[in-house]
This record gives sequence, C-alpha cells and structure tokens, in this order.
Amino acid sequence: MRYIKSNDYDRFKCIAGRCPESCCEGWQIVIDDLSLEKYREMTGSSAAFAARIKASVDWEEHCFKQHGRRCDFLAEDGLCDLQRKCGEAALCMTCDRYPRHEEEFRNVREWSVSVSCPRVAEMLVEDKADCAGFTGYTEWETEEKDPDEDYEDFDDGLYGVLCDARQLIFEIIHDRRISLSSRMEQILFLAEQLQEMLDAENGSVYGSGYESGSGVLPEVNAGQPEAADEMDKPDDRSKTGGTAAEYPSIHHGISRAWFDGLLDEYEMVHESREDAKNSFTILYDLEPLHDDWFDTLEQVWSAFFADMKNEGGAESLCWKIYDSILTGHTAFEPAAERLLEYFIYTYFCGAVYDGWIFAKAAFAVYSVRWIFMTFIAECADAAALPDAGRTETVDAGAKPGADTGARTDVDAAAVPDSDAVAWAMPDADSGVMPGMAGKGLLSAEAKEKLVRCIYRYSREAEHSEENMGALEEFFQG
Ligand code: SF4
Repeated sequence: MRYIKSNDYDRFKCIAGRCPESCCEGWQIVIDDLSLEKYREMTGSSAAFAARIKASVDWEEHCFKQHGRRCDFLAEDGLCDLQRKCGEAALCMTCDRYPRHEEEFRNVREWSVSVSCPRVAEMLVEDKADCAGFTGYTEWETEEKDPDEDYEDFDDGLYGVLCDARQLIFEIIHDRRISLSSRMEQILFLAEQLQEMLDAENGSVYGSGYESGSGVLPEVNAGQPEAADEMDKPDDRSKTGGTAAEYPSIHHGISRAWFDGLLDEYEMVHESREDAKNSFTILYDLEPLHDDWFDTLEQVWSAFFADMKNEGGAESLCWKIYDSILTGHTAFEPAAERLLEYFIYTYFCGAVYDGWIFAKAAFAVYSVRWIFMTFIAECADAAALPDAGRTETVDAGAKPGADTGARTDVDAAAVPDSDAVAWAMPDADSGVMPGMAGKGLLSAEAKEKLVRCIYRYSREAEHSEENMGALEEFFQG
C-alpha cells in the first residue's frame, strides 16, 4: 500500500474547549458498525452512564442524538462527556478521526486534514514557512495490498493521469510569475483540456490508443516522443496498481512543457463579473449547516453583486480589493495558495471514480474565490478594511518578477491605488511585495477573520454529500 500524507496531518492537535466551533454541533455524527457494537456492550464507569450511552444513540439512524443541534455528549465546556468518562477508545470512528480525512484508491491511501476545523484553518493561515498549513506531502509504502475484487473497475491509468495533473496544478499554484487570478484560470483550462480528452475517450483517458501514442492524450505523445519508448503496456500497469510514479510515460506526458505548449494557443479569459455573480448563486441552493449562513451570503451579495453597474464596471471598494488580492503580491497570497492546494490535494484525484475532472478543479478555484469574497464582505461590514491586512514584515524574496515587483500578466493601470486598499497592495515607496516569499504577515485581526471565513465556508460546503454533489454538478454542467 502506498500512503500519501499532507504535511499538516501530524501537526494537528485539537484545541477542544478553546475551539470557536465544535465538531459535535450542527452536523449528524454517523456511528460506524464496530462502535455501535461497542456502545451496545458498554458498561462504562457506571450503570447510569451506560444507560446514558444507550439513550443517546439513535439506533435506527446509526448516529448520536442531538439536542438543539448539539451532540448529546457535548458538555457546556465544549468537551465530550463520552471521552471524559470512558476515554479516547470509546469514540466512534467519525469522532476519532475528524478532521482527519482519507481518500481511498487502489493500493493508495491519501490523508489530509479538513479546513472545516478551525484549528486546521488557523494552521493554514499561519505565517511562518515551517508551520504553514499545507506545504506538500510525504509518501511511504507498505507490503499490504487491497484485494483485487474491491477495485475491479478502478481505472489505474486515469488515476495515474490525475496524479500527474495534480502535480502540475501544484506547480501552477506556485508560479508567482503570474497573478493568482491567472493561475486559477490556467488550472481551469488544464482541467477543461483533460475533461475533453476523457470525454472523447468515452470515459477512459487510458484507452487502447495510448499505447500507440496516437489516441489518448495525443498532444502529450506528439510532444514527448521519447516518452513513448518508456511506456509500459496497459496490462503491466494495471497489475502494479495505479500510482503516477509507476507510470513513467504518463508522468512525462503531463508535464509543464506539454502544458506550456497548450497555453501558447490559449488566450487568457478572466472570469467576468456577470459569471462571478451567476456562479455565486449556487451557494444559495446548498443545505445550510448554520442558520446564519444565508446572512453571510447576503452580505457578500450586497457587497459584490447587488449594485453591479455593468460588465467590468462594478467598481465597488470590495471589487477593487478582490482584484488586488487576486492580481497583486499581497500578504494573502500564501494563504490563498495553500487553500488551493488543500482543495486540489483532497478532491482532485477523486475524479477517477466519476470522471468529473473539471468539476473537481472548479470546486477548488471557486472555493478560494468565495472564501475571499466572504472575507472582504465581512471586513467591509466591520469597517475594518483599511488596515485589516497590514503587512508587518515583508521580504521580496527571489522569485521571478521580484526584481521589478511586476506580474507578467497584470496591467498596472488596472490595479486600483486607493488608500483604502493599500493594505492589500505592494508597498508604494519600497516596491516590496507583501507575502512575496511567504514571510509577509497579516495583522492578527485579518488573520482571525480569514480563518473564520475558511472554516465556515468549508463546513457549509463539505458537511454533506448532497452539498458536494450539487456543487460538482453545477460546475460539470
Ligand atoms: S473542530 Fe477541530 S479544533 Fe474544534 S473541537 Fe473539533 S477537532 Fe477540535
């Protein structure tokens, strides 16, 4: 078995009573079969508590009962009575693991921690590189393997392609020569290309044509003739179980060089205000976890969309700041990159099961856009905009573009220079770019608001399969 673990996985520690949210409130906690058995047999430290356990389980729905949307075991101090009385071993799998998350593929397990947990969101926004939320992942292998019959229909080739594409997306995310906005467009473009290839192959990127280098991913093979020599036969690959590293031909195929070739023929089209408005409406269709979520949506709506004058003409302060964050080197850049990485790392390869490559990439990109819209709207409401993102420490770093501080794809005249958005902009006198080398610091106030916007959005979007399904269906069209 091959294990992949995001670098923040082991650093996570629950802050329990200090947590502004609770993982035991609002959503239904499903109990696994083994734990149900355990609770049936449990005597606990007292007969009274054993009776409480039995009374607090919904034996038909296989979940804990709730009172006022709070788990029956959630005490006033924010701690779990079940754990307090019976120890950690008494927790069901959901409580034991959350916010840890596992994605399963044939002979591969990918582990991450969910930003719907406030502590994880906080880790993601932390400034120092050595405690950044998501800066990559580690991998290791064991001898164990999944039984073949569990993964009869698993498309090893598609999974390999997705792993390579994900790696390429990570490269795009960190390409600071271009703006965050352009990087997002490139990710959507890449996903669109892969989706078209997959659809053209009736559901499998890894078809018969791939072996000859003429059918599947034709541009890849045409551009990488040496890769064809290294190709394994399809049968050989399916035996090994589907990891990108085991497929050198695919690995060389989905490359930066290949993608740059595609980009040469691609005219960058940024999302219009009208498109942004239309896509935002999908959030109203989701089932809310918290009653006040619609208030937040309304806050964003009135800040960004209610008074939109015309295409490209919506010049509210919120739009200016939004543009600054997506096109400038701001102190928000590292957090935005890590968020993109988080959503891509966690969900992108899941397209191996439903073929919805574009939807997975779009979910990641739009989630980051919406989180920043929420953040800006909240700051605007609290009149905290001018210094919410003040940079305390800056370092220009040695990235491409650092010499001049200029993006290669941003029209300087299009970037607003209002004093009110100075906190989101490069320092006018020094030309130093906040966050350029990941060392720009956000003010404590901005950080706290951003963390809150991240975990609140994530909880609303990710708390049910129905919501995730609705979002993906919307993007897939
Ligand atoms: S949401 Fe995260 S930090 Fe809060 S109680 Fe749950 S696991 Fe702990």
